[in-house]
Amino acid sequence: MNYILEKAKNTHDLNKDEIIRLLKDDSISESLFETADYVREKTLGNSVHLRGLIEFTNICKRNCMYCGLRRDNENLKRYRLSEDEIVELAKKAVAYGYKTIVIQGGEDDYFTKDRMVSIIKRIKSFDVALTLSLGEKTFEEYKAFKEAGADRYLIRIETTDKKLYNDMDPEMSFENRLDCIKNLGILNYEVGTGILVGLPNQTLESIADDILYFKKINADMIGIGPFIPNEDTPLKDAHGGNFTLSLKVMAITRLLLPDINIPATTAMESLSPNGRTKALQCGANVVMPNVTEGEYRRLYALYPGKICVDDTPLKCRGCITSKITRINRVVSDTKGFRGQR
Ligand code: SAH
Ligand code: SF4
Repeated sequence: MNYILEKAKNTHDLNKDEIIRLLKDDSISESLFETADYVREKTLGNSVHLRGLIEFTNICKRNCMYCGLRRDNENLKRYRLSEDEIVELAKKAVAYGYKTIVIQGGEDDYFTKDRMVSIIKRIKSFDVALTLSLGEKTFEEYKAFKEAGADRYLIRIETTDKKLYNDMDPEMSFENRLDCIKNLGILNYEVGTGILVGLPNQTLESIADDILYFKKINADMIGIGPFIPNEDTPLKDAHGGNFTLSLKVMAITRLLLPDINIPATTAMESLSPNGRTKALQCGANVVMPNVTEGEYRRLYALYPGKICVDDTPLKCRGCITSKITRINRVVSDTKGFRGQR
C-alpha cells in the first residue's frame, strides 16, 4: 500500500504535503477509500446514525454567493414554519425512530433567542439529541440554546482560505465565523463544521489546510459537500464540485479523525445516484434524511437537483434503511454522540 495511506492508517496524522499528494493522485483513490472504510469499521463498527432534518425556514439575511437562500434571490418563494409546526415535525420524526433531530435554516431574525429556547425545550422533552444549524449567533445566544438543552451545532467554515471566504461570503467576517466555532466548543457543544468542495478558485492546497483545521480544532462532526452551482445565484456559471474529490476529502478526514461523525451528505447523492451509499463505504457513518413535509422540501433550495423533494418523511426513512442494510450496515439505536456505535 501507498506509504502515506499506511502512515495515516496507523498514526492518524499527515502533514500538508502528504495530504496534497493524496488529493492530487487519483490512482490511489480506491485504496484511500478502502483505508477510510477500514478505519471507520475498526473504530465505529457497522452502525449508521440517522438524523431527522427539519428545514424550518428558507428566509435568510445573508448573501452567500453560492446559496439559493441568499437574501438577493428574488426567484424563491419564502416560508417560515411556526413553532408548533416545527415541534410537530420533530414529534413525528421521533415516532419514525430518529434519535437525533437537526433543525436547520437560513439566518432568519424572526427566530429570536426566546423563540428558539422555547422550541429547543419542547423538542428536548421527547428524549432525543438535538442539533442546531442556524448560522452565526452571539456567545449569549449559543449559551442560552445550550442551557435549553441543545446538544450539537453545525456550522461549516466553508473554506479556511480567508480570501476565498471573503469572496464567497460578502459582508461576513471570516474571523467571526472562526470565533463562532470556537465559542461552540467552549460551551461544550458537539461541534460540526465542514467545507464546500469545488468553490471557484479553491485550490487543493487550501483544501489540505481545511482538513488540517478540522484536526486542529478536533471537530466532532465534519460535513463535506460538493458545491453545486445554483441558477439563481451569482455563481450560476461556475463549474461546481467533483464527486470523487469530495469523497477523497471525506476519506482523508476519516483517516485523521477516526472516531468522529461524518455524514454522507445529501449534496453527494444529488451529484451521483448512489452517492450516499458510496460515501458510507468511504468513511461516512451518518445520514441525515429529510423530515420536512410538503412543498417546503422543494423550497429549501440551497442548490438545484435536490433529492427526494416529492417524497414523504416516512418514504425517506424506509428508503435509507434499505440502502443501509443492503451494504450490510445497521441503523444505530443510540443517540450517536461522537465515538458511540
Ligand atoms: N444558514 C446556515 C445553515 C443553512 S446552509 C449556515 O449557513 O450555516 C447549510 C449549508 O448548505 C452551508 O453551510 C453550505 O455549505 C451548504 N450550501 C449552500 N449552498 C450550496 C450549494 N450551492 N451547493 C452545495 N451546498 C451548499
Ligand atoms: Fe443563508 Fe446559510 Fe445560505 Fe449563507 S449558506 S445564504 S447563511 S442559508
